[in-house]
Amino acid sequence: MKPEPGDIVKVRTKDETYEGILMPRPEIFEKGYVIIKLDNGYNIGVDEKRISRIELVSKYHMPSAPEKKITPKKNLPNVSILSFGGTISSKVDYKTGGVYAAYSADDFVQMVPELGNIANLKAEQVMKLMSEDMVPEHWKAMAESIANELNKEEVAGVVVTHGTDTLHFSTAAMSFFLKNLNKPVVFTASQRSIDRGSSDAFSNLLCAVNAAANFDGAAVVTCLHGTTDDNYCTLNRGTKVRKLHSSRRDAFRPINELPLAKVFEDGKIEVLNNDYSKRSAGKVEVDNKFESKTALVYVYPGMENEVLDYYIKNKFKGIVIAATGLGHVAGLGMQETYPKHSLYKKIKELNEGKIAVVITTQTLYGRVHPYVYTNLRKLSMELNCIFAEDMLPETAYVKLGWVLGHVPKIEEVKKMMLTNYAGEITERSDARGFLY
Ligand code: GLU
Repeated sequence: MKPEPGDIVKVRTKDETYEGILMPRPEIFEKGYVIIKLDNGYNIGVDEKRISRIELVSKYHMPSAPEKKITPKKNLPNVSILSFGGTISSKVDYKTGGVYAAYSADDFVQMVPELGNIANLKAEQVMKLMSEDMVPEHWKAMAESIANELNKEEVAGVVVTHGTDTLHFSTAAMSFFLKNLNKPVVFTASQRSIDRGSSDAFSNLLCAVNAAANFDGAAVVTCLHGTTDDNYCTLNRGTKVRKLHSSRRDAFRPINELPLAKVFEDGKIEVLNNDYSKRSAGKVEVDNKFESKTALVYVYPGMENEVLDYYIKNKFKGIVIAATGLGHVAGLGMQETYPKHSLYKKIKELNEGKIAVVITTQTLYGRVHPYVYTNLRKLSMELNCIFAEDMLPETAYVKLGWVLGHVPKIEEVKKMMLTNYAGEITERSDARGFLY
């Protein structure tokens, strides 16, 4: 019998044998390769020219449907899980290669039975996106759907499942878009897919549901592995968190402050930084105006200042610059020697075009400072750039879009950018947070 996608096969070459699930070849993948998913979860492509034989080990079995419905328990809090995509929210059907379903609440409980002892769950798939495909329009809809759940009296908190890549952009957006936040909004994700033994999805989910049910804060937070082991997760503020590793399970770290709390799988919550608002009884409002003509630009030695012409020509309203060190860009002294690299000159044009320029630092840790060097003073005073304290570049980008959605004039933009709305600016960065 000829093996089909989904079947377990042995692919033999002259020197090696690979055993795994035969995968369908995605359209975009080069022809002439056989793709199989190995036991460790990784997919490999084997050049057809090298293959001597493909043997069928066993036929594909359709994943079974959830066996039983879970009945809600009266004494447990209710938690809503909203899924937006990413690895954690998807199941792959190896027959078709497609993502065939979002997890239902029952699926989640079947996967992690302990969840049923923490909360009564309701799950809804709102979107099915890899997070790199998200745009601000998605954040607007995300805020609506989260607020809808938060405003249900019986709901204790919301868990959001999401891809990891742009998770910190979404948490920043929700931090600004959800006004008068009343309950925890806990974003979780997984770095390793659910079909791998080392998946972090189970532990992250368990801790996230715990936090949504029992954390006393009304805050947008991330809840993912605190270490490489499965011992606890950390709750990090949505405006102060960043993905700092492409694959480690403990990739999400707080920047310039301590995590708000550690959450253990058994439900224990250990507060480390109590600088957050507490739960309240009010209703959440959605304030999701966002100026799409907002950009984030990372500067580098050798950058030609014409790059910024694009934003001028296309009538952008604001740009966040991820500058070097304390907030430098190249430079005053270069106007004569290397004029095409002088960003200073171009920022002057942005300035004249009434485009708001916000300065953050690529170092992530620490804060920008407009008064240490002459160049910085000029940027700040002559060119009216907004030095965004210790705000992360990504957070500053989301915030600038949100601010520009509300006020157009540079002076008003400056005032709002320097007002702390969601813990995005700390007066003094906590040194203990460095490389936490
Ligand atoms: N790029 C995917 C995403 O961010 C990776 C999968 C994941 O991290 O969940 O959605």
